[in-house]
Amino acid sequence: MTSAVSFINVSRHYGEIRAVDGLDLEIREGEFFALLGPSGSGKTTSLRLIAGFERPTTGHIEIFGERAEGIPPYRRNVNTVFQDYALFPHLSVIDNVAYGLKMKGVSKNERRATAEEMLELVKLPGYGDRSPAKLSGGQRQRVALARALVNKPKVLLLDEPLGALDLKLREQMQEELKDLQKRLGITFVFVTHDQGEALSMADRIAVFDSGRIRQVGTPEDIYRKPRSRFVADFVGSSNVLPPEFTERVAGERCWSSLRPEAVRLVKSGGHEATLVSSSYLGSQYRCVFDVGGREINALIPAGAKLPAEGDEVRISWNKSDLHLMEDEA
Ligand code: ADP
Ligand code: MG
Repeated sequence: MTSAVSFINVSRHYGEIRAVDGLDLEIREGEFFALLGPSGSGKTTSLRLIAGFERPTTGHIEIFGERAEGIPPYRRNVNTVFQDYALFPHLSVIDNVAYGLKMKGVSKNERRATAEEMLELVKLPGYGDRSPAKLSGGQRQRVALARALVNKPKVLLLDEPLGALDLKLREQMQEELKDLQKRLGITFVFVTHDQGEALSMADRIAVFDSGRIRQVGTPEDIYRKPRSRFVADFVGSSNVLPPEFTERVAGERCWSSLRPEAVRLVKSGGHEATLVSSSYLGSQYRCVFDVGGREINALIPAGAKLPAEGDEVRISWNKSDLHLMEDEA
């Protein structure tokens, strides 16, 4: 498997601030790779290091196996879709898209033809003569995408590209981006602070915290097997359970996580619990149980007969669903 981008013990410090702090990461060719983490965790800085807008304080970036030191951004085979789109307001849509080709000295006719193709690719055929100011947020997003793709980069960097769109449009663009990435077969490095977005779109995810990576894995790994409390809290709606609780129910003294859909009501066995509250979600009930003073969230399929709030019940889960975690570093 060829690696598209490698971070080799990379740090980027600004004075006392460790924006990126000792990163080791390998992004494979053709992957849809998400950098997921809270605001300020170093995602944008990591993208800028790949793009060449920033230099590592220490460590190395490699792009397709080649050391990136000294290679300027425009020669890196990498393009960026910026968070705020950064379109040129005084240029038409087509000139925005064709800009990268103009910089390369491509002839006017060829520029226009390629830019038209790109507009078709992002489903904006015939929009070339408009001004960016006349477009909706979603359309501007597509122009930014077309502009970044026009140079046929091998790696596309996207910094929270859907953050400014409303929910419905965001979901539509998620599908389209995923589809586009599959069709073009190029590597996408996608920054987001939205765990749902990362889980649904990415082949693999790196979870960032304070300039470091806490875990790298497939969406399923990250969701079902969070390695630490930080990842479990950030990524999921999982119950995050302290060592005393884990010891009481599983005999191991460590933090653990338990997904709400793994919890079920049982007649016998399991654990004594009290139903604290429940709400109807259509296909499921969202329930909160009290187990010896610890609240456990559960999703119970609708159709099951639900006890009343305050009732004493028994709940259980498969042993393998109680996921034991490492302690925080
Ligand atoms: P994210 O994209 O995950 O929100 P950033 O990579 O933008 O995070 O920032 C990580 C940290 O580095 C933050 O604390 C931010 O304030 C700091 N930072 C980023 N760029 C600079 C800069 N040019 N000068 C000083 N501090 C910066
Ligand atoms: Mg950012």
